[in-house]
Amino acid sequence: MQKIETTIVDGKALAQDIRQRIAGEVANLTCTGRRKPKLVVVLVGSNPASLSYIKGKQRACMSVGFDSEEILLPENISQEKLLAEIVRLNQDACSDGILVQLPLPTHLCPNRVAQAIDPVKDVDGLHPQNAGALLLGIPGHRACTPLGILEILDRHHVPMEGAHAVVLGRSNIVGKPVAQLLLERNATVTICHSRTKNLPAVTREADILVAAVGRARMVKADWVKPGAAVIDVGVNVIDDKLVGDVDFEALHGIAKILTPPKGGVGPMTITMLLHNTLNAYKIREGL
Ligand code: NDP
Repeated sequence: MQKIETTIVDGKALAQDIRQRIAGEVANLTCTGRRKPKLVVVLVGSNPASLSYIKGKQRACMSVGFDSEEILLPENISQEKLLAEIVRLNQDACSDGILVQLPLPTHLCPNRVAQAIDPVKDVDGLHPQNAGALLLGIPGHRACTPLGILEILDRHHVPMEGAHAVVLGRSNIVGKPVAQLLLERNATVTICHSRTKNLPAVTREADILVAAVGRARMVKADWVKPGAAVIDVGVNVIDDKLVGDVDFEALHGIAKILTPPKGGVGPMTITMLLHNTLNAYKIREGL
């Protein structure tokens, strides 16, 4: 088989570069006496993974000079009380972005929560107005992970126009929006899911392969076309070790561009949250 030189994506370095640009913009805004942009993260319950994610988001906010607030709500909060809290945050003059950490306890409906957030403050891009804006190709907040994936592809000069992009997964937060962003960039897009037949035959056709499934090391070496760009979104913990949806080691020498399970897509997702929050701030401040 043809041996390919594999470039491992340094998501941390890319993220750092974008964060520096955001921090510079914030410094310019605040030195003229303006308030700082502010992100509010709402967590229902005390899922340890979610707690660690929201701490990471807080640290990211600090690193670029944003204000941030975390609102911890009890696991058994009613749908009505949670929606009332969101209405309060929508009306709060100093909050630019509102993010409700997923997953929610099963008695709460994520769609109703997404619909309750003011679309301008919906920095996750999950409100129907923002999801619809993506489909129509009009301005609106785009979901953070898909935005980060496009940034990775752009910064590695991966051609999208005319490329065959295969997306594994069709969630509202990753699979569907990343497929739409790739389509917007003139890729020919195939979306796969749990009922797709003969998955390896489909993925082997991909010039760009995005895996967002949540199944450890599902994508094997013989699922990938030599020279493909492979973006691994999956986060799985096996024996206390973080592994992706892609068999990372096995793809060395096959993929041309490859994201690692740690320090790949993750840092870019949080950075795009900062990007969306700054955009929300600018819209709200009329800038
Ligand atoms: P979801 O569980 O919402 O969606 C998973 C998708 O994978 C579904 O569309 C499902 O199909 C599909 N799927 C499941 N099993 C298979 C299979 N055997 N073959 C083909 N398709 C399958 O997950 P998310 O999109 O929210 O997240 C996916 C992964 O990405 C998770 O590991 C998550 O932790 C991670 N993640 C990482 C982020 C980061 O920043 N690094 C951000 C967001 C998510 P169907 O629709 O038919 O059920």
